[in-house]
Amino acid sequence: MILGVIADDFTGATDVASMLVRQGLRAVVCTDLHDPLPGEADAVVVALKSRTAPVQQAVADSLAALAWLRQGAPRQIYFKYCSTFDSTAHGNIGPVAEALLDALGAPLAIACPALPENGRTVFQGHLFVGEQLLHESGMRHHPLTPMTDANLVRVLQAQSRGRVGLATHSVVRQGPAALAAHLAQLATQGHRLVVVDAVDGAALESLAGACVDHALVTAGSGLALALPAVYAQRGWYQPRSDAAPLPPAQGRAAIVAGSCSQATQVQVAHWRDAGLPAWRLDPAALAAGGDLVAEALRWAAAQGASPTLFHATADPEAVRASQALLGADAGAQIEHCLARIAVALVEGGVGRLVVAGGETSGAVTQALGVGQLRIGGTIDPGVPWTQVEGRPLWLALKSGNFGSVDFFAKSLAISS
Ligand code: ADP
Repeated sequence: MILGVIADDFTGATDVASMLVRQGLRAVVCTDLHDPLPGEADAVVVALKSRTAPVQQAVADSLAALAWLRQGAPRQIYFKYCSTFDSTAHGNIGPVAEALLDALGAPLAIACPALPENGRTVFQGHLFVGEQLLHESGMRHHPLTPMTDANLVRVLQAQSRGRVGLATHSVVRQGPAALAAHLAQLATQGHRLVVVDAVDGAALESLAGACVDHALVTAGSGLALALPAVYAQRGWYQPRSDAAPLPPAQGRAAIVAGSCSQATQVQVAHWRDAGLPAWRLDPAALAAGGDLVAEALRWAAAQGASPTLFHATADPEAVRASQALLGADAGAQIEHCLARIAVALVEGGVGRLVVAGGETSGAVTQALGVGQLRIGGTIDPGVPWTQVEGRPLWLALKSGNFGSVDFFAKSLAISS
């Protein structure tokens, strides 16, 4: 194994795996640490549901994943978080990164959520979503991890015990050697985590060259596009053309959307506006104790063989209203309901399932008892088709803010 990846949510796991596969690395996503490590994989990605977990649990889960991965003696560990740096007021990016550094006995790790091909860039330590600063983007309304500060040094420092530094564009663009020297200097000054600017692919290439010898990197999925070339230069692997070898997907199709991110809102509206079958989870009915799973299935049966969309996706005002109705764990209740619907759909013969939302994907895949996912071709940047190992079940797990407006129809067209 060259790379062991710890992803803090399920869509993040398939996202980073798809980036590695695009560079010809064989990557497998695993969810069950009781399983043996997969053989014949260059990169093994552990999918956790730790982004919004209590800090201690997120740290414990991440350390357990690290111990499991280290059985394969990977050359490097990659802690993967969201390209919008999704985290709660208490963490978990800082505490998990520091715990992994301690366990690896490493002095310093970089932190870079940039994913330029999806418009996430870091400049002067500030995260941009397209042309907007993070806190001015739709992320300020996220139901679980509202992001209200684009200054990543400040955000990460508030979560961390150790000192957080910054490597700006001016040093990144000087190339890997200059950046590596700068990072080494920051380590000697006592910095443990260093936010690194990256505004484009060239910056990520510079960063990959500078941190290839670090025991730990922490990043969004963008760095995973640049690291493999450096691994190949080192002679650690030969890029393979057959790194994404999935058989064609089969079976009826359904979409389950629990994301309230802007991209998913637009995708749901696009599907509905086209007159395609859509069922909306009504939080008021959930609060009243209605059997929404039975209702959803009755509705689905009436749609025949058409692909169907089940969504809780709603705008920020409706989210606030349902949080008032359902209480602090509104998100978890809705995830649970959508996951039960997904399980019933698969039991009823759905073989191709698109899930929108990171936490939602975690809930759905855990309820489906998914152990290992093989990675196939990319639908849109960061979202591949995957196949559940040993089962006739194909999943596309979409991070809420990813994908084009017609993502749902596009994913089904690619899979059929
Ligand atoms: P994303 O990838 O966009 O962050 P997630 O699935 O990770 O999406 O998070 C969305 C969260 O919002 C989930 O916990 C989901 O259950 C919750 N949610 C979905 N619909 C609603 C709603 N109408 N009201 C309140 N919370 C909602």
